[in-house]
Amino acid sequence: KDEIRIGIVGYGRLGRGVELSVAQQPDMTLAGIYSRRSPGKLTALSAETPVESVAALEKGDAPVDVLILCGGSRDDLPHQSPRYARQYNIVDSYDHHARIPEHLAAVDEAAQVAQRSAIISSGWDPGLFSLQRLIGEAFLPEGKTYTFWGEGVSQGHSDVIRRLPGVAGAVQYTIPLESAIEAVEGGEQPELTAGESHRRECYVVLAPGADAEAVREAIVSMPDYFEPYQTQVHFITQAQLEAEHAEIPHGGYVIRSAETGGGASQLIQTRLALGSNPEFTASVLVAYARAAYRLCERGDFGAKTVFDIAPVLLSAKDPAELYRELL
Ligand code: NDP
Repeated sequence: KDEIRIGIVGYGRLGRGVELSVAQQPDMTLAGIYSRRSPGKLTALSAETPVESVAALEKGDAPVDVLILCGGSRDDLPHQSPRYARQYNIVDSYDHHARIPEHLAAVDEAAQVAQRSAIISSGWDPGLFSLQRLIGEAFLPEGKTYTFWGEGVSQGHSDVIRRLPGVAGAVQYTIPLESAIEAVEGGEQPELTAGESHRRECYVVLAPGADAEAVREAIVSMPDYFEPYQTQVHFITQAQLEAEHAEIPHGGYVIRSAETGGGASQLIQTRLALGSNPEFTASVLVAYARAAYRLCERGDFGAKTVFDIAPVLLSAKDPAELYRELL
């Protein structure tokens, strides 16, 4: 059986995570890594993996079955995903929740015309957590769903800070408010806004000559990402960033607290404790790349989300084996 040929577009942390994950798959091979930076300066983990310029993708004939897009959600994916869906099957991890419907529409239009299959916004949130929220609501219609993130580094939020003018480096920690988690676990079903569930701490290295107050204001006033939260901004040196903030753990909880018709209280709780957010996110993207490949093979074109993908399409095993072993 032919292996699924994966291409990585964008070689940051997520890109490296995909490279590590593909090596663990029995049915995939890493065909190439494509970057906007000078490919001569980048080294793949395996000497056998070609590292090329994204220009090599332009004609639409690169030897890949699925491109896993590992660019940033704010500045890269809104144009990279529709662009590459015009020529290739793609998977992305687009995480700007408020804009997912418009991103889906743009990628769908491209993929439909090209007769390619795309799966957007996979990963863990959006992604696995989205599925848990849907399942909780479907099984237990009368109740409330809560999502708590962290404590951990949010890559999406760190990414948007790093791209602000005047910022040389940054890391952002999302911290759940413990009082809020305890109230939910106790079955109280409190009304909590996003800002009442978490706070955000940002550690920022300024570029030479940058105005600290202007950078702070640009962060705390950013809609969706920071504005609704208690956000603290700490300015640190590059050396501190490297010494004290190198790890990228994350995780969180999705909790559905509900009552069934007889008055019984029911709680579904999903917890992720991730030693490496990018390596975990990448592992999810890789499973969805398998699904995108299979969708294209059977002529199911256009863009989809994790909600639309049957779980059997994610596994390297045959459905019959899955029914025997895991059902
Ligand atoms: P990075 O900042 O590490 O990489 C983003 C892009 O920036 C890369 O694809 C790369 O593109 C470029 N880049 C990376 N390193 C450098 C460098 N040293 N100099 C210049 N450019 C560089 O982001 P992550 O990989 O950590 O995350 C990517 C996105 O993943 C996030 O924006 C977030 O939206 C998403 N994400 C989604 C999750 C989910 O659950 N859905 C969870 C975690 C992340 P190129 O090689 O072309 O230059």
